[in-house]
Amino acid sequence: MATERTFSIIKPDATRRNLTGRVNAMIEAAGLRIVAQKRLHMTRAMAEEFYGVHRERGFFSDLVTFMISGPVVVQVLQGEGAVLKHRDIMGATDPKKAAAGTIRAELAESIEANSVHGSDSAENAATEIAFFFAGIELVG
Ligand code: ATP
Ligand code: MG
Repeated sequence: MATERTFSIIKPDATRRNLTGRVNAMIEAAGLRIVAQKRLHMTRAMAEEFYGVHRERGFFSDLVTFMISGPVVVQVLQGEGAVLKHRDIMGATDPKKAAAGTIRAELAESIEANSVHGSDSAENAATEIAFFFAGIELVG
């Protein structure tokens, strides 16, 4: 499998509980390298655009309000099969269904406040990385 990059967000429920380091330790233990990282507070417009694919879903408005309820940490992760590997260590969207040892099983509060986001394809990863980072901010 080739080295690739994926995009990650440590969500407001996790930054609020001071869990950035815990999440990063789990990412690094899985063999992924954090090649870019910054903490920011998304505007409503940014969150609506970022989660635009979910615009028609019933939970969209609550999701956007949650994502702007506090700071997030946005990251670029690099490694062998990074997209799938990161989805594996995050666990299922609903922490009640997430496998033991995954970030969401260990740390998430609910299906909405589920601590982390990860790109679901290499193509979406490239779009999401470009949304938050300039090329010179990625240091492999
Ligand atoms: P993410 O895109 O954040 O990595 P995901 O790919 O596991 O998560 P999606 O289906 O893309 O899940 O949903 C995006 C986000 O919307 C979820 O991570 C969660 O925060 C929220 N969400 C998804 N389903 C629900 C739901 N049924 N009720 C409330 N919030 C939800
Ligand atoms: Mg998703």
